[in-house]
Amino acid sequence: MPIATVNPATGETLRTYEAMGDEEIERRLQLAEATFRTYRTTSFEERARLMHRAAGLLEEDREEIGKVITTEMGKPVKQARAEAAKCAKAMRWYADHAAGLLADEEPAEADVKDSGASRALVRYRPLGPVLAVMPWNFPLWQVIRFAAPALMAGNVGLLKHASNVPQTALYLEDLFHRAGFPEGCFQTLLIGSAAVDDVLRDERVRAATLTGSEPAGRAVASTAGEMVKKTVLELGGSDPFVVMPSADLDRAAQVAVNARTQNTGQSCIAAKRFIVHADVYDAFVQRFTEGMRALKVGDPLDEETEVGPLSSERGRDDLVELVDDAVRGGATVLCGGERPEGPGWYYPPTVLTGITREMRIHREEAFGPVATVYRADDLDEAVLIANDTDFGLSSNVWTRDDADVDRFVQDLEAGSVYVNGMTASHPAFPFGGVKRSGYGRELSGHGIREFCNITTVWHG
Ligand code: NDP
Repeated sequence: MPIATVNPATGETLRTYEAMGDEEIERRLQLAEATFRTYRTTSFEERARLMHRAAGLLEEDREEIGKVITTEMGKPVKQARAEAAKCAKAMRWYADHAAGLLADEEPAEADVKDSGASRALVRYRPLGPVLAVMPWNFPLWQVIRFAAPALMAGNVGLLKHASNVPQTALYLEDLFHRAGFPEGCFQTLLIGSAAVDDVLRDERVRAATLTGSEPAGRAVASTAGEMVKKTVLELGGSDPFVVMPSADLDRAAQVAVNARTQNTGQSCIAAKRFIVHADVYDAFVQRFTEGMRALKVGDPLDEETEVGPLSSERGRDDLVELVDDAVRGGATVLCGGERPEGPGWYYPPTVLTGITREMRIHREEAFGPVATVYRADDLDEAVLIANDTDFGLSSNVWTRDDADVDRFVQDLEAGSVYVNGMTASHPAFPFGGVKRSGYGRELSGHGIREFCNITTVWHG
């Protein structure tokens, strides 16, 4: 894939970039390692000062970087600005909390004594240069949720961003630089995916994090495994959205529309499979389909637009194939389902019912505004359908019944359960999945500790 900005609303190539060569990559690896040697000794106060400054700059740049994002990957510009604001919040959160999250831990006195120590503690030390392989769907947020904790922990970052968001990738390097972080603390490697393996094998790179598809995750994890390097993987999902009879149906349907179509449906934590109890099936499906039909699809630079084009021609082709396969298999299209004519990679909000296990869309992630709806006769069947997937990122349940909630929290195979609300990441809560959605956690204390050397210090 060329490294280029191609406007998804028109298909026009606006800028292409030469990939960095071996010499430039070597220079940047050397710089990362040299910077780490000194940066690791800086205080939390100093890092926090720089991180707050970066957050302020990002907020000031909101308008401008919002337009760049929209031009590179097609999300509605209002959502692009909101993404920048969310990043600034996470940067501030880590700036304010990192020292506490990584403070020395004192084991229980009895255990210290039992080990024969006069004193013992656990210290969180940084690991070194961490490689981040990141996707285009939230081109700022996916990077910041890695970079803010990593830099606050004293690590340095090397970003290999998706090939279709090079301007955003370069902006991020510049942002940390302008904030005053030492040169080499955060560098962008403009390279294609084929060049990742060599970088990951380099001794100076100590760990890697990847957000993206399962094949990409598998490739990075297997090389990292060979090299015995720590990885965190976040590989998408096919989150269930379960609606039970006691749910507030109006609210559930309204949130369902947003949960399925935010970011034009290209979100790992978007609700994708809607599992509705038979007692409220017709009422919910009617409200949900009406909401999906009413969305304003169009130019992502228009402030009123709710659903823009998909990010790439291939992304749209993949979605078209999934829907066509389902229709061939007997699915019913309640709205959408047709690839529009004309420029840009648009696809309409679509609702499908009559899904069977043989259909590809039942197993695969639909990365676009396409919802599949299932009918469940009771809670047991709802849980069964919800877990009938290789993914396990998040889940949503709508009910006012505490017994339902207990059962879902106990049985849903996912990294989070959102009750009467839509999954949305927050810096204070761990984020990540089980099964093929990946492993490890981002955000919160769990996220910042993933890339630390958890060191036992024992005094005789
Ligand atoms: P990819 O997984 O291909 O891209 C994500 C990142 O991984 C990019 O930086 C990409 O680089 C890099 N990459 C790809 N292959 C490799 C590899 N073998 N070794 C190292 N790095 C690699 O996602 P796509 O954009 O192709 O999207 C395909 C599907 O992936 C989507 O339809 C969706 O299902 C899922 N996805 C999930 C995301 C999530 O948020 N969890 C985000 C994006 C996609 P390059 O761009 O140069 O190829």
